[in-house]
Amino acid sequence: MTPSQIIVLATPVFLVLIALEFIWGVRRERSGRGRNTYRINDAISSIGLGMLSQMSAVFMGLLRIGVYSAVYTSLSLVPPAAAQVFWSSPLGWLLALVFYDFCYYWLHRFGHRSAILWAAHVVHHQSQDYNLSTALRQTATGPLLGWIFYLPMALAGVPPLVFVTVGLVDLLYQFWVHTEQVGRLGWFDRWFCSPSNHRVHHAVNDRYVDRNYGGILIVWDRLFGTFVEEDDREPCVYGTRKPLDSFDPLWANAQVYRGLLRDSIRTRRWSDKLRVWFEPPGWQPADLAASDPQPRFDITRVERFDPPMSARLRRFAAVQFTLLLGGVALFLWFADLRPVPQSMVSFVALVAVLWALNRVIQGATTIRRCLAIQAAALAIGGLAHLALGSFG
Ligand SMILES: [Zn+2]
Ligand SMILES: [Zn+2]
Repeated sequence: MTPSQIIVLATPVFLVLIALEFIWGVRRERSGRGRNTYRINDAISSIGLGMLSQMSAVFMGLLRIGVYSAVYTSLSLVPPAAAQVFWSSPLGWLLALVFYDFCYYWLHRFGHRSAILWAAHVVHHQSQDYNLSTALRQTATGPLLGWIFYLPMALAGVPPLVFVTVGLVDLLYQFWVHTEQVGRLGWFDRWFCSPSNHRVHHAVNDRYVDRNYGGILIVWDRLFGTFVEEDDREPCVYGTRKPLDSFDPLWANAQVYRGLLRDSIRTRRWSDKLRVWFEPPGWQPADLAASDPQPRFDITRVERFDPPMSARLRRFAAVQFTLLLGGVALFLWFADLRPVPQSMVSFVALVAVLWALNRVIQGATTIRRCLAIQAAALAIGGLAHLALGSFG
């Protein structure tokens, strides 16, 4: 079974838990003991970005696992037979998971402190809500550079199958921590990534920003000086310091890259053209800082992006979302079994459908135009499939 198929099988579980969290939040809000943390527009946008991330991952197999396998085969420092026996033992599996989590910590930390890696990771942080749908909000460009951080595992002879499996475990673990409905958990919060300390990670408050990077273990943050506890006196404000203000899934993935590209073109010195990509997010070369200084972040001025939705638009979005979910599940289920050109055609058509849906949700187009774009995308996709002989 492929990782994409495992995600498809896990999706109903994700959706049931999302529904339960929503119902729980609504009931608590009614009784005055808490609040509902969901908005339909934000949740559809986040889950849509998860779909885009999973679909694009199909085409990045070479980066996600190909380079790893090549390094494992030719550069591993441990004799293959011994490595296979050790890493496939119960203790080996557990250590491989801890090893993966350690590498993930550093990828995640650099993901916040190096602009080019932030450009990929930012997608996970753009939601101004914090709930289980936020967990599914993932980058489509993460695999471009993420693989570098896991090469130590290949050098240590962790077999690709073990690597992929523990990677999936690490990712799936992180689903449940994206909730405001679970409070502090005592000792658990000090050892493991938990709802409380991951809320802090998603917050833009000065006290919280760039803290708590751990995936499964929060011990890494305590060891390397990036841990901070949630403080009830300082509620988390979620999102990014440069808000996306959009539900467009393509723009969500391109926002930071575009800013970096623009800065590196505009700045004069050649060294700055390069530095722009590797300095922490928000860094500006001296000439740009002088000519076009960025405003200081002020948490009191944070506004929530929330274009109004009519009851009709909500119903339309709910139906479209359900159909899209089915289409994406079919795509992911068969993706690794089909030739790449066929998969690419379906991918482009599904992304166009997703894009149009999100554009209508944010009020950038009408239902009629959205349907026209989607019909055109599906018709062109169908014709391309005919040309490729997919239906023959
Ligand atoms: Zn992060
Ligand atoms: Zn998160």
